[in-house]
Formats: sequence, structure tokens, C-alpha cells
Amino acid sequence: MDYNFYPDYQNQCKILRGLAADNKLRLLNIGKSLCGRTIYAAKIGHGNPFALIAGGFHGTEYLTEIAINGFSSVGCCADTARRICPDKNRWKANARGVDINHNFNACWREVKRRELDAGITKPACTRFGGLRPESEPETRAMVRMCRRFPFERVLALHSQGREIYWNFKNCAPKNGYELAKKMSLASGYELTEPETIADGGGFKDWFLKEFRREGFTAEIGLGENPLPLSDFEAEYPLVKKMIDAFLG
Ligand SMILES: [Zn+2]
Repeated sequence: MDYNFYPDYQNQCKILRGLAADNKLRLLNIGKSLCGRTIYAAKIGHGNPFALIAGGFHGTEYLTEIAINGFSSVGCCADTARRICPDKNRWKANARGVDINHNFNACWREVKRRELDAGITKPACTRFGGLRPESEPETRAMVRMCRRFPFERVLALHSQGREIYWNFKNCAPKNGYELAKKMSLASGYELTEPETIADGGGFKDWFLKEFRREGFTAEIGLGENPLPLSDFEAEYPLVKKMIDAFLG
């Protein structure tokens, strides 16, 4: 696959439809963004849903979407169903200035208090969690999908920092840390704890709190967002090793 293109909505649709036409995955429409764009999930393999890899929560982190495309194209572990969801946010916040990864219902009031303390009081390009949890259609699409399919584990891709987050308020199941260590060893990414304002309101936080099953966030790449497309080639082998460890 040629990765050297900007993964805007049109390009992403073209790639996903192409992979679907080659029978490498099955496309599911899981909802619409605030702008009315379809949010797709791609199912790889057959059988019961097993794991979800999600990216594109923040529009400036488009290498996460390219990573998911790359992973879809290899079609690994074809005997087990995998779902991969590239969200279509083009900015760090969605179209009405809500940061989707502060909008999930995981200690949302606590998150809101910290936002206000930090002077984030209204829609902004980052870190405004909305007026109530799950106020945004993008958030609700992810929540609905996780309620519909009993994923054993989820991995949310963000950038950057080469770090893996594996816990939220001690909700991680007992093998969560062990799996995170394997992902860290495979990729060289560091295991870490979130800085205070990033703790809560996120997709993996909500998944851990809601289901007490394994949920991870991985920050791919190093540098300043948006990372250049040229960084992808060197980063992808690390991401791939981490994802292989995640899938076990
Ligand atoms: Zn992010």
C-alpha cells in the first residue's frame, strides 16, 4: 500500500471501500459525525468480535488512521474477527469544538472541574469535554458499538510520545498490566500514567470503567503534532509489533 498521502475523508473512504471490494474486510457504518460524515468500522475475519483498534480521535493525529489502514491491508489473524474504527474528525476537537476524548462518561465531572481550573470554559480546538458526557455523535457511535459487540480488549491510537497507557482508576483487569508490558517490550514504547488533565473522559477510560476488560491508549510517533507523513515509514514497524502483541 502507498502510505504517502494525506488521509482525508475522501481518501479514507476510497481505501476502505477498496479493501472491502478485495474482501480483505467488511465495512460497517457505525454512525455519523457532527458534519454528517459516515464513521466506519472495518471487520476483519470471521467469528465472534474479539478486539477493537480505534484511531482518528483527534484530527491532527492522522498517522493513527494511516496505521489502521496499513493494519487492515495485512489481514492478519484472519480466523478471528477484529474491528477497526477510523473516526473522521479532522481537527483535534470535533466541528463544534468538543474534544471527543474528553467526552466519554468516565469521571467526566472530575475532568470538567480540571478543565475549568485550566481556564477551558467553552468550545475550543482541544480539551473542552462538552456540556455533558456523550453529548457528541462521534462519542455515542463508539459507545453504541462497544455495547453491541463484546470486545475482549480495545486499543485507542493517538499521537505522539511512544507511550502506552493501560489503567484508569484501578479498573484494569489483572492481566491488563501483563499485556501492556508485552506491548511495551515488543515496540519499545514506555508504559506510563496519564498527566492529570488527560486522566478521564477518554475512550479507553470509559471502556475500562464500563466493562473492566483490557483497554489501552498508545501514543505513536515522536515530535510535535501533526507529525509529518514522512515519519510513518519508520514508526509503522513499531506500531505493528505493538498491535501484534495486543492481539496476542
Ligand atoms: Zn489524541
